[in-house]
Amino acid sequence: MPITPMEVYKLLPKTNCRKCGETTCMSFAFKLINREKTLEECTPLFEDTKYSSQLKDLQNLLEPLKEATETGLIVDEDLCSGCANCVVVCPVHASDDPYGMGSGLGPTIDDPILRIEDGVVRVVNMKKCRRYGKNRILCVACRENCPSDAIRFLEG
Ligand code: SF4
Ligand code: SF4
Ligand code: SF4
Repeated sequence: MPITPMEVYKLLPKTNCRKCGETTCMSFAFKLINREKTLEECTPLFEDTKYSSQLKDLQNLLEPLKEATETGLIVDEDLCSGCANCVVVCPVHASDDPYGMGSGLGPTIDDPILRIEDGVVRVVNMKKCRRYGKNRILCVACRENCPSDAIRFLEG
């Protein structure tokens, strides 16, 4: 399940002190989830011991952000069967390598986004994913075509 801004907000100090550079704690919560801010930027959380317990809960809640790539894409390797559906349906692979994809060979380029390695899919070139960067498009093609529910996104 995606982490919601409200879940994060509830654990922040909720003082709207602006020390993080945001005007409200809710805005900071949104940016934390989008990985535009880091928890350390909310300095009161670390400086005031009355927030120790909230800090611990927040760190646990946000743990999945660490394993996510910059795209928010997470592969559960225990569920992945290595079927390569996600590799085949990725629109970036199709436009970069129409010959390989059209022939059924899969992407023959050196820098695909997703590649099957050791029987599971790995994100090898996240910067090419449509979900990467400021102008990202919330593409869901790989997740929607995974028969094992092995792909999820942190948001969208
Ligand atoms: S520094 Fe923390 S408490 Fe202050 S506004 Fe930002 S998120 Fe809220
Ligand atoms: S989110 Fe879209 S562009 Fe990114 S890897 Fe999945 S299918 Fe490809
Ligand atoms: S479609 Fe799902 S099961 Fe198949 S390789 Fe991709 S992540 Fe793994």
